[in-house]
Amino acid sequence: MFDELSPHARGLRDRLEAFMREHIYPNERALLAPPAEAEKWAPRPLAVALTEKARTQGLWNLFYNHGPEGQGLTNWEYSQLCEVLGRSLAAPEIFNCNAPDVGNMELLAAYGTETQKERWLKPLLAGEIRSCFAMTEPKVASSDATNIETQIRRDGDHYVVNGRKWWVTGAPSQRCKVAIVMGKSDPAAAKHLQQSMILVPMDSPGVTVERPLSVYGYEHAPLGHGEVVFDNVRVPAENMLLGEGRGFEIAQGRLGPGRIHHCMRFIGLAERALEIMCARARERVAFGSTLAEMGAVRQAIGQSRCDIEQARLVTLRAAWTMDKVGNKAARNEIAVAKIVVPTIAGAVIDRAIQVHGGAGLSQDFFLAEAFAETRFLRIGDGPDEVHREALARAELARQH
Ligand SMILES: Cc1cc2nc3c(=O)[nH]c(=O)nc-3n(C[C@H](O)[C@H](O)[C@H](O)COP(=O)(O)OP(=O)(O)OC[C@H]3O[C@@H](n4cnc5c(N)ncnc54)[C@H](O)[C@@H]3O)c2cc1C
Repeated sequence: MFDELSPHARGLRDRLEAFMREHIYPNERALLAPPAEAEKWAPRPLAVALTEKARTQGLWNLFYNHGPEGQGLTNWEYSQLCEVLGRSLAAPEIFNCNAPDVGNMELLAAYGTETQKERWLKPLLAGEIRSCFAMTEPKVASSDATNIETQIRRDGDHYVVNGRKWWVTGAPSQRCKVAIVMGKSDPAAAKHLQQSMILVPMDSPGVTVERPLSVYGYEHAPLGHGEVVFDNVRVPAENMLLGEGRGFEIAQGRLGPGRIHHCMRFIGLAERALEIMCARARERVAFGSTLAEMGAVRQAIGQSRCDIEQARLVTLRAAWTMDKVGNKAARNEIAVAKIVVPTIAGAVIDRAIQVHGGAGLSQDFFLAEAFAETRFLRIGDGPDEVHREALARAELARQH
């Protein structure tokens, strides 16, 4: 099923690996350390310098295949680069390949008007601004997006947006200039035609980022996750994406590639966790032998290799299927990867933490934050149960 990587993709992967070795790993702690309170949501000089370096070296917009601003890679090819940059939580932003900007850029490329692309897509592709995606609401079970209550009401040549969102990744950042907001434009329409998506500049009067949210205590500054209020926010009618009532259609298109990217990044993280698990096990001595000589640790290492290989195969298969038949037809393969990989990567990272003892839980290693990352992805992008339910529906229909 899988071919060799093209020389172009292989060249990019080699250069990406070299950049990771030279610039990311040595600076990882500094890049991930919580910044001082006063500059928490401001761009970090070190990240800005590395970003510029990556851009000038052409290690930029690796995911993007809608135009010359990207590298023209297939999903299958990009997945393999994603594994490389996924080895560090600090890396995706440096290469302009971070969520949610990637999903938003894909969305604007696919559904934006020329004016919307000029105003928002262009600076996003250049890494000049950041964006966020505001769907989830604290008041309703947002895994069922038909519940979303934010109102998007037409008023002359404007729309007025009212609602409260949370878990809006990227919203606290000073560089976040635009939100893609999902809300109800026609509560009387058929269930899946009630919602729309609209572009809301973050400096519009009535937009307030009320507070940052943390994941197991990690605030993920300077991007962060925010609770955001939209209070009578007026935006021009041309900010509507694709058309009123087409929010679900856009949501379907947005999430496929993003999910695969998360999965491949997690495989990179899991590989790195296994590497340091082995290194630690070889050097650490307890009760007269190295940890690497102990049966329980050897089982953990062996199982981790099995887990990673399975995770990589389901992810590559999903990416390959997307390339062959399109995102929509590949939805079951995407769902399998989305369910399987964060759990597996979390288990591998958890074993690495155990082998490291107390050190594994500390800020001295990337493991604790990596574990938190894999845990949240069992809920983020829709809880696993919802994807299992969709798979069950498809499977029952197929076997009918
Ligand atoms: C770190 C992080 C970043 C995020 N970033 C964003 C973002 O940028 N933009 C955004 O809009 N949202 C974002 N989210 C929100 C995320 O997408 C939602 O949390 C998720 O969709 C679930 O919605 P909910 O929290 O309302 O849970 P609920 O819908 O209340 O669901 C709670 C639980 O109910 C169970 N459940 C739900 N449906 C079913 C079912 N069919 N069968 C069985 N059990 C079920 C599941 O166990 C689920 O976890 C982020 C979340 C996190 C944690």
